[in-house]
Amino acid sequence: MRDRKSIAIVGGGASALSLASFLDEKLFEVTIYERNKTLGRKFLVAGKGGFNLTHSEPISSMVAKYSPQGFLDDALLGFDNEQLREWLAAIGIPTYIGSSKRVFPEKGIKPIEVLAAIRESILSKGHLILYNNEWTGWTDTNKLMFDSEAEIEADITVFCLGGGSWKVTGSDGSWTKRFANKGMNIKPFVPANCAYKVNWKSDFITKASGKPLKNIAIESLGHRVEGEAVITEFGIEGNAVYALTDQIQSQLDTHNKGIISIDLKPMLSLSEIEKRIAHSTRKTTEILSSDLKLEKIKIQLLKSILTRDEFLDKRGLAKKIKSLSVEVLSAEALDKAISTTGGFALEEVDDMYQLNKMPHSYAIGEMLDWNAPTGGYLLQACFSMGHRLATHLNEKF
Ligand SMILES: Cc1cc2nc3c(=O)[nH]c(=O)nc-3n(C[C@H](O)[C@H](O)[C@H](O)COP(=O)(O)OP(=O)(O)OC[C@H]3O[C@@H](n4cnc5c(N)ncnc54)[C@H](O)[C@@H]3O)c2cc1C
Repeated sequence: MRDRKSIAIVGGGASALSLASFLDEKLFEVTIYERNKTLGRKFLVAGKGGFNLTHSEPISSMVAKYSPQGFLDDALLGFDNEQLREWLAAIGIPTYIGSSKRVFPEKGIKPIEVLAAIRESILSKGHLILYNNEWTGWTDTNKLMFDSEAEIEADITVFCLGGGSWKVTGSDGSWTKRFANKGMNIKPFVPANCAYKVNWKSDFITKASGKPLKNIAIESLGHRVEGEAVITEFGIEGNAVYALTDQIQSQLDTHNKGIISIDLKPMLSLSEIEKRIAHSTRKTTEILSSDLKLEKIKIQLLKSILTRDEFLDKRGLAKKIKSLSVEVLSAEALDKAISTTGGFALEEVDDMYQLNKMPHSYAIGEMLDWNAPTGGYLLQACFSMGHRLATHLNEKF
C-alpha cells in the first residue's frame, strides 16, 4: 500500500462525522480531534426536541431553503436527503417521515444511538478519534497546537468547529479570532433560528405566554411561511418565525426593528373572510369565534394589537386577520439560538471549502456563513458538505 496522506479533522460535530465516514481509509490516515470527552454534543442537543435529521421535501425545492442561494447546491445535490437516509439505514439507523415531512430516526432509536452508530462506522474504517484535545492555534512552523500539548503536522486539515451558539456543547466560536488574526474575513455571529423580542402588552402576555398560534402564515419582506409560532414572555418563536430569520434580521440590521405580518386564517381568502363578517349579525368577538372559527389566542392577539375602533371596524377587520403587523425589536441572545450565521465569509473558501489563504486547510459546517431553517435542513447541509469534501479528497489523492 502506498503512503497514506494524513488528515486532521478538528472538531467532532455533525460535519466532521460525515466527512470521516466517507473518507477512504486506503488513501488517508484520519484523526478527529475533539475538545470534549465525547463527539457531537450539539448533535445530541438537537436530538432533545424532535430529532430532525433531514427533511423529506424534493431536493429540487429543498435547495431553495438555503441562503445564500446556490452556495450549497452542489453539496446537497451530491448527497441529498434520500442518500442521507440510505446511508443512515446502512449503518443501522432506519428513519421515517413524520407528519411534518421532517425525517426522524425510527421510533425507539435514541439520539445517542444514532451518534454511536456513526462513531462505530468511523472507527470500523480504522480512523482515530482523540477526545479532550482542544485546538489552540498554530506553532511558528504552522503545526496544529492542542491543549494536550500535542503538535500535529497533517497533510490536510479540515476545521469543523461549528457556529457560535450553545457554548455548553463545545461550539463556542472562539476559533474566529485565530483566523481573523491571519487576515481572513470573519463575520460576527448572528443568531438564526431563534426567538425575536416583542413588547407584548402585559394583560395579553399574562394570558398568552406559552400558547401556540397554530395554522398561521407569517410574512416578512415578501417571504411567506406557513406553520406555527409560540407566544412567549420574550416575544415570538417557532418554525414559521425561524424560517424568516434572513428577512427579520435584515430589517433589524437596517432599522433596529422589524415587522412581521401574521395571517391568522391562511385557509380562507380575504374576500371570504370579508363576506362572512359582512353577513353575520353577531358581535365582533362572536363572529371571530363562531363564523371564522378563530381560536381564543388569536382573538386575544387581535384585541391586544388593534385599537378598539380597529377591532370593531367590520370593514377593516378582515384585512387585519389576514395581515396582522407585529413589531419585533431584537433577536434573542446568541447563545440560545438554534444556529448562527456569520463565521467565515464565503469568499474565504473555494468551491470545495478550501481556505484561499491557507492551502490544504478546509472549513465546513456552521463555521461558514450560510443559513437554513431548522427542521432537518441544518444537519442535512452539514452532512452534505462532509460528503462533498470527502468525495473530492478521495478523488484528488
Ligand atoms: C437546540 C438545538 C436544536 C437543533 N435541532 C436541530 C434539528 O432538529 N435539525 C437540524 O438539522 N439541526 C438542528 N440543530 C443544528 C445542528 O445541530 C447544527 O447545525 C450542527 O450540529 C452543526 O454542525 P457542525 O459540524 O458545523 O458543528 P457542531 O455540531 O457544533 O460541532 C463542532 C464541534 O467542534 C468542537 N470544537 C469546537 N472548538 C474546538 C476546539 N478548539 N478544539 C477541538 N474541538 C472543538 C465542539 O466541541 C463540537 O463538538 C440544532 C441545534 C441546537 C442548538
